[in-house]
Amino acid sequence: MYNIQIIENIKRRNKLILDKLDAVTSTKFSNLYTDALNMGILLLYFSGYRDLEKQNQLYQKYLRGEGGIAAKPGYSWHNYGRAVDLVPVKESGENDWNSKFYPAIDILAKRYGLKWMGWQDSPHFTDSRGETIEQLIKNPPIIITKTKRLIPIIIGISLLALFVGFEMYKRFKR
Ligand SMILES: [Zn+2]
Repeated sequence: MYNIQIIENIKRRNKLILDKLDAVTSTKFSNLYTDALNMGILLLYFSGYRDLEKQNQLYQKYLRGEGGIAAKPGYSWHNYGRAVDLVPVKESGENDWNSKFYPAIDILAKRYGLKWMGWQDSPHFTDSRGETIEQLIKNPPIIITKTKRLIPIIIGISLLALFVGFEMYKRFKR
């Protein structure tokens, strides 16, 4: 059993990652987190969306032989908010980098069409939706996060409130 404090802490960190992902991808990884926890596996999402500058830093590190595998800027699913690096957390709160649970997480992830990179880059899961990275490079999509998706709804509600307010004002004046 996990300490509730550890779960709360990881939930908060995961939310920061989920909020910056593409909205569709975000929902998938949010569900994956719940599914894994139901199986007794707590997942920490430690990297999600990366801008090109951040990607370049990681790529340069990788070229120097210092960091893990990193693609060239623009060539990573992370640059489009469509990938997450995750690690199972032990009950002690430590990250379980060589977790035996990765294949089980892969099975859960497949239900959402998420693809695991396998042991060569075990934390990395992508949401390709039948597209290739070359297609995204050619036509970079605008990333619509969950928050961005709410903006038209908020504007709509504001306009409606304004309209209702104005109608009531007219009636009150009479
Ligand atoms: Zn990754």
